[in-house]
Amino acid sequence: MTTVTTPANFTDLGLIPPLLARLTELEYQQPTPIQAQAIPSVLAGRDLIAGANTGSGKTATFALPILQHLFMQQQTEKSLSRKSSKGNYVTGLILVPTRELAKQVADSIKSYAVHFNGVIKTLAVFGGVSANTQMLALRGGTDILVATPGRLLNLISTNAIKLDRVKTLVLDEADRMLSLGFTDELSALLALLPKKKQILLFSATFPEQVQALTQELLNDPVEIQLQSSDASTLVQRVFTVNKGGKTALLAHLIKQHQWRQALIFVNAKNSCNHLAEKLSKRGITAEVFHGDKGQGARNRVLDAFKAGEIDVLIATDIAARGIDIEKLPVVINFDLPRSPSDYMHRIGRSGRAGEVGLALSLIDHEDYHHFKVIEKKNKIRLEREQVEGFEVDEITGDSILAADKPMAKPEGSGKKKRKKKTTINADIWSGYSEPE
Ligand code: AMP
Repeated sequence: MTTVTTPANFTDLGLIPPLLARLTELEYQQPTPIQAQAIPSVLAGRDLIAGANTGSGKTATFALPILQHLFMQQQTEKSLSRKSSKGNYVTGLILVPTRELAKQVADSIKSYAVHFNGVIKTLAVFGGVSANTQMLALRGGTDILVATPGRLLNLISTNAIKLDRVKTLVLDEADRMLSLGFTDELSALLALLPKKKQILLFSATFPEQVQALTQELLNDPVEIQLQSSDASTLVQRVFTVNKGGKTALLAHLIKQHQWRQALIFVNAKNSCNHLAEKLSKRGITAEVFHGDKGQGARNRVLDAFKAGEIDVLIATDIAARGIDIEKLPVVINFDLPRSPSDYMHRIGRSGRAGEVGLALSLIDHEDYHHFKVIEKKNKIRLEREQVEGFEVDEITGDSILAADKPMAKPEGSGKKKRKKKTTINADIWSGYSEPE
């Protein structure tokens, strides 16, 4: 592990004036911990492996150094009156798991580059929309390309783009890319890259697959693992509720707190619609966001939610990754995520970049074992709370409230009646990912 110093302001990071000016305009007052720790090494050309949660400011961590390199290179070429051959090249390649993230990262990069007067070309390519428009946009190549793996391979197969001149590769949310089944696509893409390149790998979690990828790809990387307390000021709470009582509790909480922009996670596309209907009967308007919606509809809903025009958005896990909604005050797990790492991704939508946020999980009798697993894997322990008027029944309640204690055998003969056996839905143990 390399020791890194942590500059306290952006000027000390070695960034050039056009970028510093933009950060001032964006009111970034000081680097986030990942930015402070990583940017100097990335600028120096080192490989990087960063364990950073969403909301930690990781986009700027890779985007600013890539932009700076490209800009400096272009300035040098200009001063030497040299023209680099263009063609269907790409210099900075950023691979991301979802369409929304591709668009969002590209937008951020364009925003950071506004004082470069358009000399750096940035594009996003992703599935679900026409490839022709993307092919046209790629004519003459691009300096920075943000892509989902599947669409990028398609575009390569039609010669719309070539990867042999990539200088920096970013694998953003590497764990998610692998869990969404992009392993083969990634291998195919990696084989097309030049040998000499800088690699920056970001992952919230480090399952075996990511570790293997890291070992295979990275060259003496700088390693940064943020403490979770560095990443956000997020408050996590867990409310127990009787089975069948979640909708009523949710409606009560939404009305009581009058949340603007509450993001509610469920586990299936049709659960989004069901819950929206049930909330509507209780006088709450909610929109839904899931993989069955067309890309246009997804963008519209997301933009309206970001703009504060929608108060309650019910979503599947496709919203759990990388979507940056400014100052999202609350994220609610109506259904618990099946994988413990998805819990971290979901709650990362709130409390971003130092803002206070709330991540709330509603657990009933059938959830409590699974919630314990989520806590254990994520090394957290939360107190079970009850909401007045929604107290759990005594027997069920005992089980839920005793969730942190080892399950003691009933005293005596062991024949004491247990009213209801805790059942765990087998489905929650299976890996889950919603097709894009
Ligand atoms: P990210 O983790 O890259 O998705 O960034 C999360 C959010 O934090 C985005 O809205 C960024 O614009 C914002 N952000 C990134 N870096 C900073 C910073 N140094 N100061 C304030 N906000 C930041």
